Amino acid sequence: MPLSAPLSAVPGDLPAYVYDLAALDAHAAAVRAALDGVELYYAVKANPDAELLRVLAPHVDGFEVASGGELAHVRALFPDTPVALGGPGKTDAELLADVTRLHVESPSELRRLLAPGPSRRRPADVLLRVNLDVPVEGASLAMGGGATPFGMDPDGVAECLDLLSPPGGHDGRGPDGHGPDGHGPDGHGPVRLRGIHAHLASGLDAARMLELAAAVLDYARGLGVTEVNLGGGMAVSYTDPVARFDWKTYGEGLAALRRPGEVLRIEPGRALTVYCGRYVTRVIDVKRVHGELFAVVAGGTHHIRTPATKGHDQPLAAWTSAGGPGGHGEPVTIVGQLCTPKDVLARRVPVRLEAGDVVEFAMAGAYAWNISHHDFLMHPEPAFHYR
Ligand SMILES: *Cc1c(COP(=O)(O)O)cnc(C)c1O
Repeated sequence: MPLSAPLSAVPGDLPAYVYDLAALDAHAAAVRAALDGVELYYAVKANPDAELLRVLAPHVDGFEVASGGELAHVRALFPDTPVALGGPGKTDAELLADVTRLHVESPSELRRLLAPGPSRRRPADVLLRVNLDVPVEGASLAMGGGATPFGMDPDGVAECLDLLSPPGGHDGRGPDGHGPDGHGPDGHGPVRLRGIHAHLASGLDAARMLELAAAVLDYARGLGVTEVNLGGGMAVSYTDPVARFDWKTYGEGLAALRRPGEVLRIEPGRALTVYCGRYVTRVIDVKRVHGELFAVVAGGTHHIRTPATKGHDQPLAAWTSAGGPGGHGEPVTIVGQLCTPKDVLARRVPVRLEAGDVVEFAMAGAYAWNISHHDFLMHPEPAFHYR
């Protein structure tokens, strides 16, 4: 059960997030090395922590952001790094932001982009986000393969292509021959179609991800575009914290699928940063209620909402124990300080815990602190440590 020894020097100020930047650096380098000729963007929403972004920056070709807030954050840290902006429900300000790639999510969003107005000053390089009707069963989250608010079905994409073709126009090819060119009715900066974006599912293994990639590439080639962003969603297993997505197989598969002249890009989030973070806290109380043993720890799901939102048990990395280091015992349910039955970090874990013991939760480097409802009950925030 213990994945590693307890952190050598447990910070005194618990609860705390502890990030292993050296491990992140090594992991990102390995992912990069597995991707031959494929562009790698990091999906910032997984964890926008500036220290993590600084470690990732040399390994990635760019960052994918999902809001104006993330865009401003990334721009302030890395003014010259390519950025792709996506996400449903973009405001006008977001649509008009100066980004390397804009992922258009609906025909009406494209209409707003093409609308005349003084604000449309600069060109926009657009990928159309498609939701293909492909099977995504087995995924932990499905953004495509059925009715979802993400992207467009092929009819929506066809509508966009019509909008981008100038009336009575030419053959629909842009000056670079890479796709249709759209101009606002007032002739302001062109909206250039660069290709297709697809982020269809998360939690699939390399073989399934390659099947999806093949389907998306077929579709893109049918439209005559040569740039394809295949999204993120590479599988992460919270029940097997030492397992890793098979980046080598995925990279080799993508290299085999890619044709000369095509630009392929991926934008993983979770699979890059989840492993580098731990949430470390201390047991405040242990009690038995109607026969069941509970350990109440400082903090809880307002610091690490992941187990509540995913409905899983957050894996333990290490713990000190009344029964000695990593001592086992009667199953205990580890809960936080919130006055809600949903504040459960892990159910019926066979470890022996007493008040004062330190508990370290693994896989807290993505979708953890930054997705949590920090203000609920007004407990203090955790400390943050980087090593
Ligand atoms: C969230 C998201 C990602 C990253 O997904 P992970 O599961 O964290 O890899 C990539 N692209 C888009 C469009 C997203 O919404």
